[in-house]
Amino acid sequence: MSPPRADLSIVGAGLAGPLLAILCARRGLAVRLYERRSDPRAGAAPEGRSINLALAARGIAALERAGLMAQVRPLMIPMRGRMLHERHRAPVLVPYGQRPHELIYSVSRAALNRVLIEEAARQGRLELNFGHSCLGATREGQLELRDERSGELTRLDAAPLVATDGAGSAVRTSLVDCGAVSAREEVLDHDYRELTIPARAGKHALEMNALHVWPRSDFMLIALPNTDGTFTATLFLPRTGGVSFQSLATSQAVSALFEREFPDVQALLPDLTAQFAAHPQGRLGTVHAAPWHVGAEVLLLGDAAHAIVPFHGQGMNAAFEDCVALDALVAQPLGWAERFARFEAERRPQAQAIARMAIENYAEMREHVRDPRFLRQRALALELEQRFPERFIPRYSMVMFHPEIPYAEALRRGAVQQEILEALADSAPGPSGIDEPLAARLIRERLPLIGR
Ligand code: FAD
Repeated sequence: MSPPRADLSIVGAGLAGPLLAILCARRGLAVRLYERRSDPRAGAAPEGRSINLALAARGIAALERAGLMAQVRPLMIPMRGRMLHERHRAPVLVPYGQRPHELIYSVSRAALNRVLIEEAARQGRLELNFGHSCLGATREGQLELRDERSGELTRLDAAPLVATDGAGSAVRTSLVDCGAVSAREEVLDHDYRELTIPARAGKHALEMNALHVWPRSDFMLIALPNTDGTFTATLFLPRTGGVSFQSLATSQAVSALFEREFPDVQALLPDLTAQFAAHPQGRLGTVHAAPWHVGAEVLLLGDAAHAIVPFHGQGMNAAFEDCVALDALVAQPLGWAERFARFEAERRPQAQAIARMAIENYAEMREHVRDPRFLRQRALALELEQRFPERFIPRYSMVMFHPEIPYAEALRRGAVQQEILEALADSAPGPSGIDEPLAARLIRERLPLIGR
């Protein structure tokens, strides 16, 4: 017999699912959440994706709205900027912003997931079902589930249903199969592999308050700190070709790459080749799906709707913003069809904008950060932000530190700002290093006050 119908069903209790469930349960909805994994409170860790993530202002704003920051703050390690490791040079810290609060934070995915699940479990009207895999969903919101312990299959009417089952969403796949949604995954030709840099005498082996980057033009290594003194390093490499994962088929090839490109990291990784062999190679891509909703029955949200590449550190932040946007619509006296339609209209342009900026940021991290012209423009952008803080904010800062500026607006303003930077680079600088009258004129003419 099917259980009584919930006001809202959610598939996927990764990052977005439990946050959305908490927000909706607090609005008085009876929410039922289904997750394939077993309960993380019993020790199960989230599946294979990144061990830690960068949390920034948009994600923090959402967690604040859910009243979760007291539990999340102890998990956060501030990162002040990118620590650039060039070959044969001392590392240099390039700050992310220019104000003390302009930081991003490294958090453990497993610990964050646990905080969310614990809070979800405290909500009276929220039922958590772990060990339940979604095998598919119909356009009417009927869900097919498999109990992972007993193998029992169930079908239930779950509409309204929100799919937060991640980049490989089973719900999205079945909606594609029945023709209700069309979807395309743009797979990046670079994969990734994670490695753990152990603590040294209980302490971080590298500067703790930074996101470390070893940019090497066509590939890169990054490392984010963990609270236990370790770092999670991620190697991003082309799948095939010269320096590629394909070319690293032997331990000798792995050692040779690190010896040549990342000798400082190799010195910190005594078990490099064993880790490299043991850890999975992950794919990266952008999911383009349309529509995200089917009537009042099903909505895709978070990575299920719009997975992006991780180079701006915004996938989770964007998924959390999605939850806040839907919660604001749940607060209004609307039907689900209207809520889902408005959600999609509001969030689609934002998802498209961050997807594009995330791809662009890969080139910035692995290549442009080493380019003197890029570094000059960045210094100029920071200078202009100081002089015109209500009009000119570097694009990276808009995305990471200004949740009040939607992604699409950050993309649009960023393009105008780039043109201004180029015009200034071509003009004769005044005594302060900038053609000030030209800067003031272009900025006032082309960049309206933020928020107007
Ligand atoms: P997920 O967190 O993937 O959750 C999906 C959940 O659904 C999982 O718990 C899964 O077990 C469950 N599930 C899947 N299939 C089924 C099924 N059939 N039935 C039932 N349950 C199912 N974002 C950032 O903001 N900052 C970063 O620094 C960052 N770094 C990243 C680094 C890497 C290498 C990668 C791959 C991603 C990174 N991201 C980052 C992106 C971030 O991980 C995602 O955007 C975020 O996890 C999306 O949340 P979600 O809830 O939509 O999906």
